[in-house]
Amino acid sequence: MIGFDLDEIVFEFIDGLIPFIKEKEGIHISKKDFHSYNLYEVYNISKEKTDSLVFEFYESEEFDKILPVEGAVQAIPLLCSSYKIPFITSRPVKIKEKTISHLNKYFPSHPFELHHSGDYFAGSLLTSKAEICMSCGIDTIIEDNGSYALNCAREGINVVLFTKPWNKGVEHPLIKRVDSWSEAYRYLNPLANA
Ligand SMILES: [Mg+2]
Repeated sequence: MIGFDLDEIVFEFIDGLIPFIKEKEGIHISKKDFHSYNLYEVYNISKEKTDSLVFEFYESEEFDKILPVEGAVQAIPLLCSSYKIPFITSRPVKIKEKTISHLNKYFPSHPFELHHSGDYFAGSLLTSKAEICMSCGIDTIIEDNGSYALNCAREGINVVLFTKPWNKGVEHPLIKRVDSWSEAYRYLNPLANA
């Protein structure tokens, strides 16, 4: 079974956040300069401030309009034809309803389930992505976050890692890097290569 991260894999979160922060704070950082997914390191402002900006973004209309990653909406249901799509996110549980309605919009005809890991906002209160994969029988996760990818790979879970500026240098025998959904789909579905 394949599991899917949400932001940067299904939705273009950073593409929505960049103009939002520019509008609020007057700071513009290009996506290629996101050397970390810890936004306080990228923007060089406090974690408290970046967390509150991200929450403000979650509650904004701009967040409701973030677009799917090219190819995701087509590929994901095909890869999960016999089971509910397992999405695994470290977004806060607080915005679960928003997340579900956003997923309903783009995956209206394929059942899915949404798992929240506690990696970012909830600390150790919730389980890690690797633990969710193991408890749900997910043997492959599609991810862009280097730490989560390594954590999963070290637990024996295969990772398809979308190459991004913030995951440079992350390598492991169970990590396969891809640049796009078309590449991921060809890798995950051997029939697509026939
Ligand atoms: Mg992500």
